[in-house]
Amino acid sequence: MNNEKNIVVHCKSCLLTNQKPHSMNETKNQSSNQKKSTLEFDEKGICSACRNIERSKKINWELREKELWKICDKYRSKDGKYDCIISGSGGKDSMFQAHILKYKFKMNPLTVTYSPILKTDMGMKNLINWVNVGGFDNYTFNPNGKVLSVLTREAFKNILHPSQPFKIGIKTYAAKMAKIFGINLVFYGEHYSDYGSSTVTDAYFPLEWLTNDDELDDIHIAGLKVKDIKKKYNFLRDQDFIPYKPLKNKDLEKMNLNILFLGWFLKWDPQEIYYYTTKNSGFTLDDYKSDGTHGRYASVDDKMEYLHFYCSYIKFGIGRCRLDASQEIRHGHITREEGINLCKKFDGEFPKRYAKDCFEFMGYSTKEALEIIDKFRPNHLWEKKKTKWIRKQEIF
Ligand SMILES: [Zn+2]
Repeated sequence: MNNEKNIVVHCKSCLLTNQKPHSMNETKNQSSNQKKSTLEFDEKGICSACRNIERSKKINWELREKELWKICDKYRSKDGKYDCIISGSGGKDSMFQAHILKYKFKMNPLTVTYSPILKTDMGMKNLINWVNVGGFDNYTFNPNGKVLSVLTREAFKNILHPSQPFKIGIKTYAAKMAKIFGINLVFYGEHYSDYGSSTVTDAYFPLEWLTNDDELDDIHIAGLKVKDIKKKYNFLRDQDFIPYKPLKNKDLEKMNLNILFLGWFLKWDPQEIYYYTTKNSGFTLDDYKSDGTHGRYASVDDKMEYLHFYCSYIKFGIGRCRLDASQEIRHGHITREEGINLCKKFDGEFPKRYAKDCFEFMGYSTKEALEIIDKFRPNHLWEKKKTKWIRKQEIF
């Protein structure tokens, strides 16, 4: 990391910082040290996520909705086949997408689920409600847990990103299901620009993010090449990596696939979506406040997500509360001051509720896991005073 990146810049409007990396094609990700592009700021010190939400307030949403009607008219099946795919696990966003496309836009969506690493009770309940209350057909895929366990173990140790193999698998899953069912349309939810990614500037998800033409042995998962993972765990065979294999460019060329962000066409306010799905699809809130944030309705289906957010807090100084609060500030639900107070209370809380389950799944004792975590604290964000880790360059 160069020196410039070692100085934490806070957005003047929300609470995000220049340490936040953009998502990338992880199968080309060699290690945690690989340079990633990070959240951009304009000359006034406002991040691109805030600027995007500001711009979205001026969008003519009626016109955008008409565009969506046109697309649906083109793809809507006339012979009772599925005409689009929504991938999700019963989170509020996928519930919203499937419901509005089926009941307002008269599409016939197939819902598909790539199972969370360690399902929570709440997530299971919402997945059942998605199908039974919302009213959808659903295919659920459970990747081999023995394989996932070692990949998660390596991803935690090598890049402190335990959910990375899962995220690689889920990323191509909807496209693979589209291929199997001969469906040309996949919908994703919130537009990437709402998180601050400025690389996606229209309704279309860039398909090259799903592809990698390298040989399987040379593909990166968990910070290692597949051939090195196979050497280390000699029970693994090539076919064990099927769920993690990116698409080949030639496969995509044959498919005529379009992946669209529904959030490009419909205004995406997380709170409004929460109310909508509670009413229409039986979305249920967690009984407990999530460790690490004040929020209770995002990413509550996978125990590993709680650890994932904690790892991001260690590596980038951006915890789950900071992400949630920043989003709420952008949408005008809370002030920046209120967001700062929430971060003081909750950001970086240890994921105590599920940590042990996660460590056990990866085959680490708590002591071993905590030692790994501490190795990933960057010097410009953390210093150790006696036995305590102190955050540097904090906003408050
Ligand atoms: Zn911002």
